[in-house]
Amino acid sequence: MTILQMPVRQLGLMVNSFARASTCGTRLFELLDTELDIKDAPGARDLVVTGGVLRFEDVGFHYPGSGGRPTLSGISFEAWPGQTIGIVGPPGSGKSTIAHLIPRFYDVSPGAITIDGQDIREVTLQSLRKAVGVVQQDAFLFTTSIENNIAYGNPWARETRIERAAESAQLHNYIIGLPSGYTTIVGERGASLSGGQRQRLTIARSLMLRPSVLVFDDSTAAIDAGTEQRIRAAMKRFAKDRVTLIISHRLSSLMHADQILFVEGGRIVERGTHQELLTLGGRYRALHDLQLRPDDDRPALGAA
Ligand code: ATP
Repeated sequence: MTILQMPVRQLGLMVNSFARASTCGTRLFELLDTELDIKDAPGARDLVVTGGVLRFEDVGFHYPGSGGRPTLSGISFEAWPGQTIGIVGPPGSGKSTIAHLIPRFYDVSPGAITIDGQDIREVTLQSLRKAVGVVQQDAFLFTTSIENNIAYGNPWARETRIERAAESAQLHNYIIGLPSGYTTIVGERGASLSGGQRQRLTIARSLMLRPSVLVFDDSTAAIDAGTEQRIRAAMKRFAKDRVTLIISHRLSSLMHADQILFVEGGRIVERGTHQELLTLGGRYRALHDLQLRPDDDRPALGAA
């Protein structure tokens, strides 16, 4: 992965690494060592995607420098092409960490993550990261045209493909309404686009890359529910032969998933479909009642 392909969070980690160096030299080297630790294993082969089945097998993980305190423990699930997995849970429960392990920003221990039976630690990083797309909330946009930003993973992309991706991400109509259309320059970090437009642009970009596993990490938080629904409908064709993971605080974003994982304290504490989890009457149900029950059903604040 080149630095241009790094999600903002990774770039942030690097920048943070340097920033922390001024106060703590040892920590910098720990962090940089971690970045450098992730490299191709000797004799690594390219990932061969036959179907695109993603498996987490009893995955545990702790961040470097956390004193071995686990961020994730015993995470197991399987996702088949065409399936959508929703991941929900309280802040800090480890949802984004799950997303970051799939393109191997960090290595897991214990356990393993496989794609079509191949341990991701044993394949080349380049082939892995071509197969896994992570759409983040705060993705990096370059000071260049909208079309270049959408196509940056593929500089020879045809105009029609760029436009189709923008259409699916519900951005096309906005773009063609701009005086310079697709050649409009977006400012540094996409300053001339709203948060929701930036997110839709990064969704379009990820569609261009056609990964086998596509992860949305809270990437629709700034998009209104109606537009999100239209994006989901437009993406149905695209999602048909790949695994989609949706991490979101908003239940309406993932309640249609084939399987929903409720993560708490780094563990999956509930799993099932929306209906199964409602019937279970546990954590998911409580969150559902908080978020989706009509206002007049809710007890008044302070009511006994
Ligand atoms: P949110 O819903 O707030 O985005 P989350 O469920 O996605 O949270 P994570 O971002 O995966 O949670 O974080 C899980 C835990 O790991 C938190 O305690 C967080 O502080 C810690 N953490 C996250 N990133 C790092 C990092 N780069 N280094 C050290 N600890 C980290």
